[in-house]
Amino acid sequence: MSINYQTVMDELVVVLGKDAVSNDPVRRFAWSTDASYFRIVPEIVVHADNVEQVKQTLTIARNHQAPVTYRAAGTSLSGQAIGEGILLILGHDGFRKIEISDDANLVTLGTAVIGADANAALKPLNKKIGPDPATLSACKIGGIVANNASGMCCGTAQNSYQTIKSAKLVFADGTELDTGCEQSKAAFAASNGDMLKSLADLAQMTQNNPTLAARINKKFAIKNTTGYSINALVDYSEPFDLINHLIVGSEGTLAFVNEVTYHTVEEAKCKASALAVFFNMEDAAKAVPPLDIHEVAAVELLDWASIKAVTGKPGMPEWLSELPQGAAILLIECRANDSETLNNYTQTVVEKIAHIQTERPIEFSDDPAVFGEYWAMRSGLFPIIGGERAKGTSVIIEDVAFELPHLAQAAADLTELFHKHGYPEGVIYGHALAGNFHFIITPTFSSEADIQRFHDFMQDVAEMVINKYDGSMKAEHGTGRAVAPFVEMEWGADAYTLMKQIKHIFDPTNLLNPGVILNDDTEIHVKNIKPCPVVDDYVDRCIECGFCEKTCPTSALNFSPRQRIATLREIERLEQSGDKQAAEQMRADAKYDVIDTCAACQLCTIACPVDNSMGNLVRKLRTPYITTTEQKVLDFQAKHFGAVNQVISTGFDALDIIHKVTGDGVTKAIMDVGRKVSKEVPYWNPDFPKGGKLAKTAPVDPSKPSVVYFPACGGRTFGPTPKDPDNRTLPEVVVTLLERSGYNVITPDNTRSLCCGQMWESKGDFKNADAKRDELIDALAELSDNGKVPVVVDALSCTYRALTGNPKVELLDLVEFMHDELLPKMQITKKSSITLHQGCSARKMKLEPKLQGIAEACAEQIVEPEGVYCCGYAGEKGLYKPEINASALRNIKKLIPTETKEGYYANRMCEVGLTQHSGIPYRHLVYLLEECTR
Ligand SMILES: Cc1cc2nc3c(=O)[nH]c(=O)nc-3n(C[C@H](O)[C@H](O)[C@H](O)COP(=O)(O)OP(=O)(O)OC[C@H]3O[C@@H](n4cnc5c(N)ncnc54)[C@H](O)[C@@H]3O)c2cc1C
Ligand code: SF4
Ligand code: SF4
Repeated sequence: MSINYQTVMDELVVVLGKDAVSNDPVRRFAWSTDASYFRIVPEIVVHADNVEQVKQTLTIARNHQAPVTYRAAGTSLSGQAIGEGILLILGHDGFRKIEISDDANLVTLGTAVIGADANAALKPLNKKIGPDPATLSACKIGGIVANNASGMCCGTAQNSYQTIKSAKLVFADGTELDTGCEQSKAAFAASNGDMLKSLADLAQMTQNNPTLAARINKKFAIKNTTGYSINALVDYSEPFDLINHLIVGSEGTLAFVNEVTYHTVEEAKCKASALAVFFNMEDAAKAVPPLDIHEVAAVELLDWASIKAVTGKPGMPEWLSELPQGAAILLIECRANDSETLNNYTQTVVEKIAHIQTERPIEFSDDPAVFGEYWAMRSGLFPIIGGERAKGTSVIIEDVAFELPHLAQAAADLTELFHKHGYPEGVIYGHALAGNFHFIITPTFSSEADIQRFHDFMQDVAEMVINKYDGSMKAEHGTGRAVAPFVEMEWGADAYTLMKQIKHIFDPTNLLNPGVILNDDTEIHVKNIKPCPVVDDYVDRCIECGFCEKTCPTSALNFSPRQRIATLREIERLEQSGDKQAAEQMRADAKYDVIDTCAACQLCTIACPVDNSMGNLVRKLRTPYITTTEQKVLDFQAKHFGAVNQVISTGFDALDIIHKVTGDGVTKAIMDVGRKVSKEVPYWNPDFPKGGKLAKTAPVDPSKPSVVYFPACGGRTFGPTPKDPDNRTLPEVVVTLLERSGYNVITPDNTRSLCCGQMWESKGDFKNADAKRDELIDALAELSDNGKVPVVVDALSCTYRALTGNPKVELLDLVEFMHDELLPKMQITKKSSITLHQGCSARKMKLEPKLQGIAEACAEQIVEPEGVYCCGYAGEKGLYKPEINASALRNIKKLIPTETKEGYYANRMCEVGLTQHSGIPYRHLVYLLEECTR
């Protein structure tokens, strides 16, 4: 039946509203990607924030037989988080419940809770969730459960399958079930009794078939996520238990996971790690079985290719270069709740493998600086290989598992296959205790021959893993489309039939994520392969992993960095294919989402494992859009910045008077008219600040130390807002505090003319931006007698930008100066409660601890609103694209307790946006310190 997606779209808009649904070609394309090597463009994208919306979508989908794919964080590697039809994405604000039982043994989590956030809530209780995929800081509970994701420590004992207590689910027919609620189960039994019976029968049948049951038990003795979790059919008989456990690892093909209740696991208080360096892989593999004891929390293996890949790289131990050819490393971690037990554990480890020769003694360290270096080696592997791969290549991370006795030979076989098929860059690493190898290759998919080569490689891998070792083709990352063709080969016909029956019982019309896990197309793993055209050095390393989506301030508004990059790649692909018209069309259609709305905050770079810089690229992409007239305006502003800055400040003062006299409505109307005349007129709101002004300084006293103070343009343009309790401008407060602390304060005579250049840089005018920055640095160098006098800047973003110009004098942000120089000497009277913003510049400069330090010194309680990483004001962009700021701060008001009446940061423009959206005044931390030390 052909599906009329326009009708589906129209119906969805009626029930969900137009903001929750899109069939815009650019936005559909942007959601066609996950972290896998596949690309599938959905017809419609839905953002759902509550279970009603999921049910409404399902009803419409059912009526039209339109397939539905659920998506959490989209970090999946096997192509299971993308799909044709309707892509239902967990919204940015819903499904965020975290509820911990009184004894902390249970935690109930909404499906969109990020794994690391769940663990952060449990940490004070020395608990965590069992599953521990490497992507815990990005991936969401829905994806963790649906992939049966696991990592380094959890093995097969603490994954979702083992630790799930109950779940709230929505089935394809729209029925809801809470497997932890007797009432819900009774209602479900009444409405869906046939389903329960079919499941119980299937379990009975499986348990009555000793050959099949034995096969299932054998295969799940090691990690396995190939196909469904059919171990449930041997482990359980009661239908609700069966549902609970079949849902785990079902990759969105059986039901929607709304909430999950997990049994929590212990988070040990102490840990120590050691590197055991062996002369060869055989010895390393021999050491693994003796380490399969409770004293050992994790054993990670690095093969010789992995060691070579990280050798000589920044942050890696120098001695790696001295290791003999063919060496292999086991990184061993022990954890305990006290140091004595930990000591006993580490000694046991050393004794257990003392009979195997190592290249150096095995020495455990509980010093985070030392074991941090060991772990940097393991976690650096993927970024190094991903980041250094040739342009235009993809990164494929596969994971397979073997019984422990096969590890050494399987590694050798796998390495041979890398070379046979032309992937010499292949490395093997992984969770040795679980027999779980990850391997990374970086293939090109630019021709049919490339695809055939990959096909042949995968065929050989399957032959080796399945036929030679009876291992798992997938141990952690889920089957998806990548391994769907090998499910029957791995499991055999009987088990495969069971899986088909399971799918039929849950989803008889094949509505949910069709083609994932079970797929009759034996070539599906080499279809819909994502092209990877070269775009720009700043982003070419992108592997579309999605780690950057959590902190990007525009993820909820429109695009995340991953989507910006995917779109740019498509434009480039269209260009290269010769379809200039389509490329031009997409470029124009995507300009707002890709270029105009990026705040260039660079938070994505901090999160990115391969150091992409969307912020830098987007500024570069803005350059061609500067018209000749705009360039003339920019040139004029740069040349006459002192006067321009003064006029703006005076204009803001005038606006403040108009506002006071005429009120909100008239002022807004005047500004709206102004905006129609010129887009240089900002969007106005009642929290608009009045103009800023510079401060008078006392005459220099030679007996006192001096400091050169540069008041950045934010604080000298934006004065107090109507909400501010203090009528003084930022420069006035800074000078008051510095002089009271015993300093002569020296400011440049031409302060109003000077600027770090950010306002030109953000528009892509690098010429003026850099010239202004150089002018500023020269002025500060001269004034400070080439650095003899400390130089302090009062806006984090300005300090950051000035520092990128490699200044000849040391520039300090005011936060650093207050924290390091002033704070230790001051008597402080604490306030009760304040809110602290840790924005993008603080994060880029790694100054969060210093902001925190000042805040803690001055207040009893510090509130840091969860999930606010960047305010999205982006310099003066907040004046012209207020929707970015509004979206980034959409939740801030409800995250601030009513008793908290004041907020702090260290960047005036950001503070203006924070004030507007939080409802409380945000000011520079210097106001706080000045007030608390009077
Ligand atoms: C660099 C890298 C390293 C990785 N390391 C690991 C690892 O160590 N271990 C590991 O297991 N995985 C790993 N992964 C894969 C992936 O990150 C995890 O499996 C993760 O748990 C997926 O969660 P997600 O929120 O991104 O889910 P998504 O990718 O969005 O979705 C995963 C599956 O869950 C389904 N789904 C999502 N939400 C729901 C819902 N509410 N109801 C029903 N179905 C739903 C989707 O349809 C899809 O099939 C890695 C990925 C990358 C890129
Ligand atoms: S620079 Fe900031 S706004 Fe732009 S894509 Fe990166 S995180 Fe998002
Ligand atoms: S920009 Fe970096 S973090 Fe974001 S998707 Fe690409 S590789 Fe992943």
